Amino acid sequence: MTDPGCIFCGIAAGTAPAHRIAEDDRVVAFLDLFPAAEGHTLIIPRVHAENLYEAGEEDLAAVAVWSRRIAHAIRRALAPDGLGVFQLNGSAAGQTVFHYHMHLIPRRAGTPLALHGRRRGEEAELASVAERIRKVLARETPASA
Ligand code: 5GP
Ligand code: ZN
Repeated sequence: MTDPGCIFCGIAAGTAPAHRIAEDDRVVAFLDLFPAAEGHTLIIPRVHAENLYEAGEEDLAAVAVWSRRIAHAIRRALAPDGLGVFQLNGSAAGQTVFHYHMHLIPRRAGTPLALHGRRRGEEAELASVAERIRKVLARETPASA
């Protein structure tokens, strides 16, 4: 269920800090600490699974549902021009944390595509953007939820 050496298991358990966006009994969503763009969010199953091959179907379904909910909230809160939603499997694909996670990366037209950020986000900025997304989530249920 939990890998003691895994940072995302620590975040799911609440023993490692993160700017949390949403959670339920299966899934936790939080901001990426090295954002590729403002609002870069990760969604993980609570149960440790390394990648798409290992994760359970119900956990994958829950991540998909939360991807859509948080996509709506990011669109409303931050008004990006687009939103990248993707995940990576294996270091050859660019995966760096080996606990399955979905990336949601707001995109601005004309900026270069980047899978990963280069610098750690400022705590105050992360706290502020997390609050903006959480506020929208709290007041809105997406259409045909
Ligand atoms: P991957 O390359 O595995 O698809 O993405 C891993 C992501 O996790 C990267 O975007 C990286 O910035 C982020 N990350 C790595 N360590 C931490 C951490 O301790 N906390 C948070 N919130 N994000 C992390
Ligand atoms: Zn884990």
